[in-house]
Amino acid sequence: MNVINPATEEIIATLQEDTESLLHTKLEILIKAQKEWAKIGLSERIKVIQQFDDLLEVEKERLAGILTSEVGKPLQQARNEINGARARIQWMYNHAVKYLSDEQVVNTIDLKEFISYDPLGVICNISAWNYPYLVGVNVFIPALLAGNAVLYKPSEYASLTGLEIEKLLKKAGVPDGVFQVALGAGETGELLLDMDFAGYYFTGSYRTGQHIYQRVAAKMVPCQLELGGKDPLYVADDVKDIEAVAAGTADGAFYNNGQSCCAVERIYVHEAVYDEYVSAFVKEVRSWKIGLPTEEGVYIAALTRKEQIDVLNEQVQNALANGAVLLSGGKRTVGKGYNFEPTVLTGVSNDMKVMQEESFGPIIGIMKVKDDAEALRLMKDSVYGLTASVYTGSLERAKEILSQVDSGTGYWNCCDRVSAGLPWSGRRHSGIGATLSHQGLRTFTKTKSWHLLKG
Ligand code: NAD
Repeated sequence: MNVINPATEEIIATLQEDTESLLHTKLEILIKAQKEWAKIGLSERIKVIQQFDDLLEVEKERLAGILTSEVGKPLQQARNEINGARARIQWMYNHAVKYLSDEQVVNTIDLKEFISYDPLGVICNISAWNYPYLVGVNVFIPALLAGNAVLYKPSEYASLTGLEIEKLLKKAGVPDGVFQVALGAGETGELLLDMDFAGYYFTGSYRTGQHIYQRVAAKMVPCQLELGGKDPLYVADDVKDIEAVAAGTADGAFYNNGQSCCAVERIYVHEAVYDEYVSAFVKEVRSWKIGLPTEEGVYIAALTRKEQIDVLNEQVQNALANGAVLLSGGKRTVGKGYNFEPTVLTGVSNDMKVMQEESFGPIIGIMKVKDDAEALRLMKDSVYGLTASVYTGSLERAKEILSQVDSGTGYWNCCDRVSAGLPWSGRRHSGIGATLSHQGLRTFTKTKSWHLLKG
């Protein structure tokens, strides 16, 4: 399995994919190791995870360099990702005692009732490449804190980072065998679906997620899915600083080259501010530095996957053939690297591919609407339900709209944002279950209800 730098198209490493028999050996080791890990107790596990968090800080520059070399994101965004992952890890270990300890419900002389949160056992985490640290720690950190062992299959586009995570967890004190990496692509993932894990935790596309859900259904174990989105954003007519709104929302659409599950993917703008917004938006997009991800100040670098260029080309062609107007970008950049120009389309309609299918790249469609009712109708017109965002001077107005959009997250005057204390969850084609928050800590446990009656 070759690891290719998407910015230079050079092979930077060659790795051996795990064979079926190696995966089975790893599972046997995980099963044994998990029992010991569960026994050492929560406070000891917290110490180990704190140590991992410290090591991420110490090793940040090196890890960011490796991440950039295999996924192509600007180096500063790789550093930001590690910082963001650390903030999440800290929230998790600071709240682990509160949410993973036994919970007293009745406590009288004669009767005690409490809930214990027991580890599931060995869980399987099949992960994505776009934020390997962020989406990784959402799963394996709370799973480890709760006393599980983890088989972690990084995306084939983030294997080097997966191996670094394994090394660092070991160095931090996670005992041998408790966390193991499975190397490979979809075929390796398929093999994992045939094995007996106590739960499957997947981050990736709707297509793969739906397939995994069907494949593991008969096992009757938890199967959690964090999938894609087509996140809408509405700019109302009462926003004050239109330039700031345009800059903030452009960042929400294009950060990480648009390869974020919660990237802004569709923009609806009230007709009263439409022209001003579009011109400020395009000005912002044209101001970005495009180049090699290792160059200082670069905001748009290479896409991670070459195949995505075809998806983006198709969305542009489909939009233009149906009457859209191209205001910026629209094609692959010449030269080495999987680069695509930041692309802004207006005059789009909601049935175009660019407004319905997840783009996962540096492209946005902007549409003019006449009022809130039209904006709401269009925002709701999607099979996905990850996030939705409204920019307006009025909280009531935002709440009125957001409460009617069937999404796991609602944003007022912000977008493309995740908080460790809030559940991260998608609805409909965006997923099932939640990571982060108290839910994300407890999702790696099974409850036992204790009824203790004095005899
Ligand atoms: P993907 O579905 O192509 O792959 C995800 C993982 O599944 C990879 O590890 C891959 O090797 C594995 N896989 C592929 N086929 C498999 C199979 N048949 N059986 C088992 N495993 C298999 O997704 P991707 O390209 O890595 O990630 C991008 C997608 O992830 C986007 O849709 C994005 O929106 C979504 N995503 C969602 C979240 C979230 O929190 N909701 C976060 C990040 C990314």
